[in-house]
Amino acid sequence: MKLMVIGCGGVATVAIHKCCENPLFTEILIASRTKSKCDALADKLRSKTKAVLTTATVDADSFDSLVALMKQYQPHTVLNVALPYQDLTIMDACLECGANYVDTANYEAEDTDDPEWRAIYEKRCKEKGFTAYFDYSWQWAYQDKFKAKGLTALLGTGFDPGVTSVYTAYALKHYFDEIHYIDILDCNGGDHGYPFATNFNPEINLREVSANGSYWEDGHWVETKPMEIKREYNFDGVGMKDMYLLHHEEIESLAKNIPNVKRIRFFMTFGQSYLTHMNCLQNVGMLGTTPVMFEGREIVPIKFLKALLPDPASLGPRTVGKTNIGCIFRGIKDGKERNIYIYNVCDHQECYKETGAQAVSYTTGVPAMIGTAMVASGTWSGAGVFNVEEFDPDPYMDALNKYGLPWQVSENPVLVD
Ligand code: NDP
Repeated sequence: MKLMVIGCGGVATVAIHKCCENPLFTEILIASRTKSKCDALADKLRSKTKAVLTTATVDADSFDSLVALMKQYQPHTVLNVALPYQDLTIMDACLECGANYVDTANYEAEDTDDPEWRAIYEKRCKEKGFTAYFDYSWQWAYQDKFKAKGLTALLGTGFDPGVTSVYTAYALKHYFDEIHYIDILDCNGGDHGYPFATNFNPEINLREVSANGSYWEDGHWVETKPMEIKREYNFDGVGMKDMYLLHHEEIESLAKNIPNVKRIRFFMTFGQSYLTHMNCLQNVGMLGTTPVMFEGREIVPIKFLKALLPDPASLGPRTVGKTNIGCIFRGIKDGKERNIYIYNVCDHQECYKETGAQAVSYTTGVPAMIGTAMVASGTWSGAGVFNVEEFDPDPYMDALNKYGLPWQVSENPVLVD
């Protein structure tokens, strides 16, 4: 099966490592903006895999560049692990060339000052009640186009979104008649030794974390100020951590796809040093996405900041500690209340030894491969645009155990108030 992977950053590195372990993928094209990174990865992996690895340059912002490469390579499936800015262009190119599409993050506009985008965004804010720059409406709008071509688009197969949504489908299938409350807890207990760095793409990460929070309750969104809601939780394998409520993309799809759900919240842990740095950078305007003039040329503050911060891919050797990501479910089984917690604990150094990347890239890259394998093998099939919770979770859950992200189920966990 011919796979084309777009992007060659932290997540892609892990996803490609894992694709090389899966005999389903016999030919893999690694295509990204900087071809030297693709070449270096392919050289490292060739001796460890039977898959035929090739590399190419592609500009994923350009439909023509994508189509030219896809027409030449003719992939069965395309895994997009570039940036969310490129989702729609890559989906368009897949439709043009007859390839299935898989990604890990929903569409986000790069230029949030574009008046055409802003008009749609502001209408959506009013209609839906949350102000995040990213949402599923752009990609769900491709439903009829993918159906008409008989192709599958699988959205959001990272850890969160991705595994957290598969956990939800699994809990609903095996543990509950109805799920009423979902709390998604994302804890990174890793320490990289820098005063400030982000674990994945700084621009995407900082835009997400500095935005308003929100959660889904009784059929509508409730929006909060950034970091307004704080809780403490004692995480297995990590210990006690502060965590903060954020808006997160799987809340939107789970609210649509899980019947009878009353509330969905997402919490992420942050240390005080991270928050102090982020607040300071925001206060001085360094998280801005609007270009400013500097010494006769335009610069975008957050892009300049990205250039100064450590490359997330370089954190692997320095990061020690563990991540713990999972979901606490409360609902009803056979007329009785039931609470369970499904989660994975992942060790940064183990991930680094195996793939050269830290656990945040690892916990995203492994499920990116698994979702791609589900589509490429036809285990998950159908024409149209799908989120992962719409399919049978069992084969995906088996693959998580097989490919390095084993999960645990805890009955009667401590709940989050
Ligand atoms: P990186 O910044 O490390 O990598 C992005 C890669 O995409 C780089 O290789 C970059 O090229 C390439 N790229 C960027 N723009 C283009 C373009 N126009 N054309 C071709 N290639 C391009 O990001 P990560 O690996 O950390 O993240 C990858 C994706 O995973 C993101 O969409 C992120 O949001 C998502 N993610 C999802 C998570 C989940 O749990 N669902 C968690 C973490 C991340 P270059 O090397 O030249 O910069």
